[in-house]
Amino acid sequence: MLETEVKGKRKLELEEIRRDFPLLGREVHGRPLVYFDNGATTQKPKRVIDTIERYYSLENANIHRGVHYLSQQATTAYEEARKKVANFIGAASDREIIFTKGTTDSINLVAFSFGESLKEGDEILISHLEHHSNIVPWQMLCERKGCVLKVIPMNDRGELIQEEFEKLLSTRTKLLALSHVSNSLGIVNPVREMIRKARDYGARVLIDGAQSVQHTTIDVVDLDCDFYVFSGHKIYGPTGVGVLYGKESVLDAMTPYQGGGDMIKTVRFEKTTYNELPFKFEAGTPNIVGGIGLGAALDYLSEFDMHEIEAHEASVSAYLGACLKEIDGVRIYGESEQKLGVQSFLVEGIHPFDLGTILDQQGVAVRTGHHCTQPIMDFYQIPGTVRASFAMYNKKEEVDVFMNALERAVKMLK
Ligand SMILES: *Cc1c(COP(=O)(O)O)cnc(C)c1O
Repeated sequence: MLETEVKGKRKLELEEIRRDFPLLGREVHGRPLVYFDNGATTQKPKRVIDTIERYYSLENANIHRGVHYLSQQATTAYEEARKKVANFIGAASDREIIFTKGTTDSINLVAFSFGESLKEGDEILISHLEHHSNIVPWQMLCERKGCVLKVIPMNDRGELIQEEFEKLLSTRTKLLALSHVSNSLGIVNPVREMIRKARDYGARVLIDGAQSVQHTTIDVVDLDCDFYVFSGHKIYGPTGVGVLYGKESVLDAMTPYQGGGDMIKTVRFEKTTYNELPFKFEAGTPNIVGGIGLGAALDYLSEFDMHEIEAHEASVSAYLGACLKEIDGVRIYGESEQKLGVQSFLVEGIHPFDLGTILDQQGVAVRTGHHCTQPIMDFYQIPGTVRASFAMYNKKEEVDVFMNALERAVKMLK
């Protein structure tokens, strides 16, 4: 573990941290749980659970519309949470933070609203590594508007082929929509350089941060992306809430996504005027407790040094990677040096679903299947992988339990 101490930050004492997450103390099938499915969703610290319980027990009211005490208090808490998000990702202003339902919802918002400005023949560039939610909304936009979807190819190691990316860029490219980290392979894309190259052609850039924001320090101004999206539930917060960061000037120029209450200034049958940012994009009563719960999750994470979390998770992941290589017939998918949070693999001759089932019987939770990235599975011509994905609370001892369980499973299935 990294021994550098940052002033005022809590050290990553694993046993102490694990006690902050009540669920980690439970058993599954009579065995202590080893939770290696953090790429699908993370567990929640008590601080988040308590915040949600307190909100519904003592603070519940609708926001932005009441003169009464509870409504004002709830409004303040929700808007404070928005500021916490802005600070956490280095946004210039909290007007640039739109609360959504999650990554999928954020991408659909951009595909619809930003998409309204696109014309026939305009090109949208995505990559072979994208999650379905960063593919399908663009296909739907292309059908609606007659735009053309282009795909940056990958190589056998799971990396995007940069020369091909450069060849695909042109002044017709209006948007590059790219994952920061692949949820399936853990590959970290060189987003900073790719954003710069896309900018040279005047393209806007959306970064899917669903698998990066919880693992590494994010500064959207430094990255210089136009949009950055992520889900609350993968960063220790509740489900049903997520974030769309957008540059103020870009969001200002976009038409609203949905119409309704809260997103308007005045409504007349002749003409309606829209509210200012960020409310223009938040029609209807939002997921108030979700936003406040996400704020509590970011408060929790901010107690620690993000660099220490990143180094710790990298060491757990690298340890698992090294152990896997010792086993006959294992292939790890995603072989770049630049990986975060995920080890994806297969054992020759064994279906990933069978492996996952026998791991589960031993209390080990992993994900098996295509991980919402069917094009990657098609590329490798495999039905899916077994994916172990990590969070701040995972430890090397769990990797040892995992490896014992895996060796037993392989013996049973071979
Ligand atoms: C999980 C995930 C999504 C979708 O997130 P939801 O919370 O299901 O909306 C999109 N992209 C990546 C990279 C993901 O890991």
